[in-house]
Amino acid sequence: MTKWVYSFGDGLNEGRADMRNLLGGKGANLAEMASIGLPVPPGFTITTEVCSAFYENGRKYPDALEAQVAEALHRVEQSMGLRFGDAEAPLLVSVRSGARVSMPGMMDTVLNLGLNDETVEGLARSSGDARFAWDSYRRFIQMYGSVVMGVPHHHFEDVLEQFKRAHGAEDDTAITADQWRTIVTDYRHLISTHAGTDFPTDPHDQLWGAIGAVFGSWMNPRANTYRKLHEIPASWGTAVNVQSMVFGNMGDDCATGVCFTRDPSTGENVFYGEYLINAQGEDVVAGIRTPQPMASVRAEAGQQPMETVLPEAYSELMRVRSVLETHYKDMQDIEFTVQRNVLYILQTRNGKRTAAAALKIAIDMAREGLITQEDAIRRVPASSLDQLLHPTLDPRAERVQLTRGLPASPGAAAGAVVFSAEECEARAAKGEDVILVRIETSPEDVHGMHAARGVLTTRGGMTSHAAVVARGMGRVCVAGAGGIHVDYAAGTLSVGAHTVAQGEWITLDGGTGAVYLGRVPTIPPTLSDDFNTLMGWADAVRRLGVRANAETPEDARTARRFGAEGIGLARTEHMFFGPDRIGFVRQMIIADAEDVRQKAIAALLPFQREDFASLFRIMAGLPVTVRLLDPPLHEFLPHAEAEIAEVAQGLGKTAEEVRARCAALAETNPMLGHRGCRLGLTSPEIYAMQVRALIQAAVMVEKETGKPIRPEIMIPLVATQAELAVTRRAAEDEIAKVLKEEGTNLNYDIGTMIELPRAAIQADRIAEYADFFSFGTNDLTQTTFGLSRDDAGSFLPYYVDHGLLPRDPFVSIDRDGVGALVRLGVERGRQTSPDLKLGICGEHGGDPDSIAFFDEVGLDYVSCSPFRVPVARLAAAQAALATRQRVASSAA
Ligand code: PEP
Ligand code: MG
Repeated sequence: MTKWVYSFGDGLNEGRADMRNLLGGKGANLAEMASIGLPVPPGFTITTEVCSAFYENGRKYPDALEAQVAEALHRVEQSMGLRFGDAEAPLLVSVRSGARVSMPGMMDTVLNLGLNDETVEGLARSSGDARFAWDSYRRFIQMYGSVVMGVPHHHFEDVLEQFKRAHGAEDDTAITADQWRTIVTDYRHLISTHAGTDFPTDPHDQLWGAIGAVFGSWMNPRANTYRKLHEIPASWGTAVNVQSMVFGNMGDDCATGVCFTRDPSTGENVFYGEYLINAQGEDVVAGIRTPQPMASVRAEAGQQPMETVLPEAYSELMRVRSVLETHYKDMQDIEFTVQRNVLYILQTRNGKRTAAAALKIAIDMAREGLITQEDAIRRVPASSLDQLLHPTLDPRAERVQLTRGLPASPGAAAGAVVFSAEECEARAAKGEDVILVRIETSPEDVHGMHAARGVLTTRGGMTSHAAVVARGMGRVCVAGAGGIHVDYAAGTLSVGAHTVAQGEWITLDGGTGAVYLGRVPTIPPTLSDDFNTLMGWADAVRRLGVRANAETPEDARTARRFGAEGIGLARTEHMFFGPDRIGFVRQMIIADAEDVRQKAIAALLPFQREDFASLFRIMAGLPVTVRLLDPPLHEFLPHAEAEIAEVAQGLGKTAEEVRARCAALAETNPMLGHRGCRLGLTSPEIYAMQVRALIQAAVMVEKETGKPIRPEIMIPLVATQAELAVTRRAAEDEIAKVLKEEGTNLNYDIGTMIELPRAAIQADRIAEYADFFSFGTNDLTQTTFGLSRDDAGSFLPYYVDHGLLPRDPFVSIDRDGVGALVRLGVERGRQTSPDLKLGICGEHGGDPDSIAFFDEVGLDYVSCSPFRVPVARLAAAQAALATRQRVASSAA
């Protein structure tokens, strides 16, 4: 018979940490913690398979489930010495969802389940605290009513607020047991009116109601959005954890808290987190009371750190912290409760962290001997390095500080203030920089947070939803800026005399928590020693070379600073747009008299020579691949009247004649038109000029520096062997001429882009004329799919949203189609030339998943934009480790 329910705690642990697919992350870790002797209240996990079966069978549970739940519940009753629904000694449980990966978009928790008008009296007697019992009861009704029965949370808040006002109660602690009793009646009335059914008083009905709500929440819109954003398949399902309650709200020797074994913002090795005395779990995240710090070293004046307030429980927690880190070999995010000075652990999981923290923790743990250097390389998500390369505020810049909140997620961001996730998304889609400002965020805001540059909240702590989600996404976040008053209706935020309206700019500093008026300038990041250490470790294991796509001196310098091992693609057309050249470029294209045309081309030569020379100087002997002109000529044509007039004057033509020539050059499908080597073949003097400039520059810089330079000339958009053969011969003739004039010799390579399907298929023949291939996966994706690079935006998102494509193929290589052509190109190219140098210079060169593929097919290097170079170095190392692992396990 299928086992649907797994027990944990009190000596019967049927699960393990590696069973997260079946038990969800929470359930697997509860079982694991219990089995290594940590204080975990007993309970059981209903598996994710039940969730799948539930949906497959028209929302019906498997037959055996009820009996298995009853048996597991009975075991919890026995180990706690309590009975579910018993009026004297009632067992209360929590019911929590728990998928394989943590999903804040789902139903989370129902606490105190099992209370009703009878059991509440039993709880009052057994705890000796009627106020506590009635407070627990009303909390339960409130949670159950909103989470399970769908009554909006704020209705409960309204009832409570009204009651407090009417009775002059300042806060919840002033409310007596009898008063809670009245509120309970009001709450139940509220539920009946709103939900159309009464609040269930039978604990078994309550339990099945909560279980059903967890499974139901797997398909709610919030969870669906979250899954889509994080690429989590709906088929995974969620588990349900039912666990005996322990109480953090039974008095001043009780507490509840959330903590991280290391600082999740910086990675520093200090115990980090927040707790509240005499409170239940949701109070910490709800921001109703201000949580206090854990460690004394992190406490500011007036704060009451747990270390001094509950020293015994704190030292037990320190012990647990070290057991957990040693056991899981990673930074943990722990939820705990202290009941009458006794510590209970309710959850542990690998903690979410900023990129900076991930880096520091990985390096520190490797140095502490907790993990290996290879583990450290695997631990840091390659794409997260992007965050470390983000700008910070320029310290010299003038600024007007509006207020300060908590530094919840680092980096600096400026943007227009918006107050709703929808508005945020809409403006960001138009290319605007936006800051999402909310009193607090909820899972409904996640899509807006994703679209925003930064997030600012006025309520909530470092473990609030906004803080945790923004950190995970790498968005700047300032949380809990309590000095700000947000008026959603008016669309304003105000602090004292300052009012900022929607659309006006503010700047956030996620590193300090400061909020500034207007736009404060930023400076590029400096890289930490840890960063360099990790890069060093990565470089030692990777096989793939990493070059950069760069054509300006600034980009080339950035590329080198980030460790690029050369330039894999210098797009020469980008050099043609400078204000000092575009005039000659236009004359070159439009002139019909050969001498005028030659004059314009000759005028461009010194510019190009200097462009190439400066790249050679900056790259100091590292390889530089220069691609000859690629795009259709009409891209350079004049459009504005003034531009047309200028070209006309330069050529001694009328504006009308220039316009006519421009019209004649227009193409219906320019991307498939007169571009790349087709241009080089029909207008050979352009390529000749570029080759001449390049060779002259190489000779010049070689003389200057005394170091050999071996330029790489790349021919774009080749489809046939003949195209490359003719273009190559022309380039070689020009090179021979220049070298003769210069009276010197020079080594060089001539290669081609493989960016058309035909070129990949014919790679063996093309390789006869190529010293290297560089796969142009942008064009190769475009031409393989027949999908315009420039027009795909209007329908490609639909494809991804509807599962027609797993990801945007321009972002991550389509292994099966485009990737198959790359593989074919590699195999056929090497058939002809076993030593053929192979690279890739499309955007995929900076995408970690694609890099893994390029490693697999045996390319020699990837080339990507300068800021992606560290990402590529790390991803290449991770790919190499994965390959080693694959080889080792297939040998075993
Ligand atoms: C490519 O097509 O992948 C490529 C690198 O060239 P471009 O993007 O300049 O067309
Ligand atoms: Mg291309």
